Formats: sequence, C-alpha cells, structure tokens
Amino acid sequence: MATHHTKMLIIGSGPAGYSAAIYGARAMLEPIVVQGLQPGGQLTITTDVENYPGFKDVIQGPWLMEQMQAQAEHVGTRMMWDTIVEVDLANGSPFRAVGDSGDEYIGETLVIATGAQAKWLGVDGEQELGGKGVSACATCDGFFYRGKKVVVIGGGNTAVEEALYLTNHSDDVTLIHRRDELRSEKILQERLFASDKITPLWNKTVSAFVAGENGALGHLDLVDTVSGEQSTIEADGAFVAIGHAPATELFKGKLPMDDGGYLQVEAGTPKTEIPGVFACGDVMDHTYRQAVTAAGTGCMAALDAERFLATQQHAQKEAAE
Ligand SMILES: Cc1cc2nc3c(=O)[nH]c(=O)nc-3n(C[C@H](O)[C@H](O)[C@H](O)COP(=O)(O)OP(=O)(O)OC[C@H]3O[C@@H](n4cnc5c(N)ncnc54)[C@H](O)[C@@H]3O)c2cc1C
Repeated sequence: MATHHTKMLIIGSGPAGYSAAIYGARAMLEPIVVQGLQPGGQLTITTDVENYPGFKDVIQGPWLMEQMQAQAEHVGTRMMWDTIVEVDLANGSPFRAVGDSGDEYIGETLVIATGAQAKWLGVDGEQELGGKGVSACATCDGFFYRGKKVVVIGGGNTAVEEALYLTNHSDDVTLIHRRDELRSEKILQERLFASDKITPLWNKTVSAFVAGENGALGHLDLVDTVSGEQSTIEADGAFVAIGHAPATELFKGKLPMDDGGYLQVEAGTPKTEIPGVFACGDVMDHTYRQAVTAAGTGCMAALDAERFLATQQHAQKEAAE
C-alpha cells in the first residue's frame, strides 16, 4: 500500500477526467487519474461516434478513449488502475481519497469526473444488441436511423425528449410506456401529442430485444401490463430512456446533490461548494450528457483548479512576508 501525492487528483477516466488531466498536466499540476472500473468511461461500450469534433469519418468510441488516455499520459498524467472507495473532504485542501487497492491519494485539488450510467431494462437481447439497434442515447445514435422505424421506451421527460428528437430523423417513432399516461412535464406531453410522427403505445413492457436476419435488431417482444397479452413490434432502432444514475454514492452527505443524485455546482462553473473540489462531465450534467460537453467541463475544472492553487500560493506568500 502506498500514498500518492498530487496537485490535482482526478477521479474518473471518461472524456471529462482525461480532458481535465490534459489541461492539468500542461499546467504542470502533475495530475493523477484514478480510472475506476470502466477505464475510458461510457464511450468504451459504444461503437460508432460521429459527433465528436475533429474527425470527418466515423470513429469508434473505444479508439477515441484510447487516444485521449494516450494524450493525457503523453503530457505527464499518471494513470492508476484503482477505484476510489472513500473520500475525506471535511478538512479542506489537501483532500484524501482511498482506493480499492488500499492505496491512499492526497490531492491539493480534487476533480470529480465519475460520470453516470444509463439505466437499462435488463431483458434478453438488450446487451447483445447494444450498438446494433439498441441504444440509450438518441442524440448520439438517432442519426444512424434516418428514415427508419424507431421505438423509445419510457414515460418520463427523457423518453419524451428522445422521441421528439428522433422525429428529426424518422417519421415513424413509437413511444412504448408501461402505463397509460406519461410522467413527463405537461409542455413536453403537448409537443409529443401534437406530433404526427410519434405514436404512443400504452400499457406495454418490453420482454426481449430480438435480432433480425442481419444480426441487428429486428423486433421487440412486448407484454401488455393490463391483459398480460404478448405481442411484437418491428423496429430498426430502440432507445431505452428510463433515466440515468450518476456515480455519486461516494459523495453522499459530503457534497450537495439534486433530487436525481447529480452533484450541484455553481452555475456556469465546475465549482462545488468546497473550495478546491470541482465536478465535471455527466456527474454534474443531466441536461447535455455528451462527450464533447464532458470534455469541455473537464477543461474548465482543470483551469479552475490551477487558479485555486495559484490563489492559495499567493495567500501563503503574503502571509509569510
Ligand atoms: C451507448 C452510448 C453511446 C454514446 N454515444 C455518444 C456519442 O456518439 N457522442 C457523444 O458525444 N456522447 C455519447 N455518449 C455519451 C457519452 O459517453 C457521455 O456523455 C460521456 O462519456 C460522459 O463522460 P464523463 O467523463 O462525464 O463520464 P463517463 O464516460 O461516464 O466516465 C466515468 C468514469 O468514472 C470512473 N469512475 C466512476 N466511479 C469511480 C470511482 N469510484 N473511482 C474511480 N473512477 C470511477 C469510471 O470508471 C469512468 O472511467 C454515449 C453514451 C452511451 C452510454
């Protein structure tokens, strides 16, 4: 067991964590990234990425994250294959974190980039057809279903927003919901019911995603929640939109969170209420949830961490004079 010291400790290795690391390393903060159970983050479980700036051709999510990791290492970031299981923020900077390995990490600043995970239904075929018709992100993957038949599963704000977004690409969108009314805000419901491209399918749950002859999604098996009757619906794309779970368990009672468990930051900044602790990426953003926005807020966190350290140094110098 060892103790690692750094000016900038980053928890999480998705686009937010790696971007913070690239900026932190170039500011000579010698960052440490603790990578967690999913090195590279959510993009490592997808295939085609077509909306990350800088690439004319479609790139692969895992490849993009390998490049970000390599870039962060190249400029001087230390990667740790460990998962943080405990953090101590009560006494201010420096902050202490403990890894699953038993190693201790001491950071003069702390950047939280632990992301969020889409919630899945957990039914047959869902995992196997991930990236082959089954997705949890219409903004990311909707474009691949231009002119095709798509379904959205869910009844809250996310599901209605995803269905409305998909009408930009498809004239045949079905919203499958297990109840006979939506939970989403009234204004979104009004927009949904006004669209002639969206058909709601009430009182149905999905029991399986089934591949067609080409190996990609062909249809979904459904069960009626009232009658128990079984049916199927054909679809080229299915978007599971039943919410996201931010990875904030570690920070419960230590940092303010909203009702959904997302970390709260000062508006327009990655600053948490504890000076020197910053949050970036999906862990503090339930609105945009994109790789490019995660990278952007990661950059902001590193710049603010640098400013925090400079201000501290200045204050210490003045006190010593
Ligand atoms: C299937 C799918 C396809 C997508 N496609 C696109 C797309 O095409 N374009 C796009 O812009 N966005 C896409 N997204 C969204 C994008 O992946 C996310 O917005 C982005 O990854 C968020 O980055 P992040 O750095 O905030 O967090 P994440 O990518 O979620 O990374 C979180 C990191 O935190 C680590 N971590 C968590 N807990 C701990 C801990 N206790 N200790 C240490 N580390 C920890 C994890 O190991 C992981 O490395 C897609 C998402 C999914 C699920």
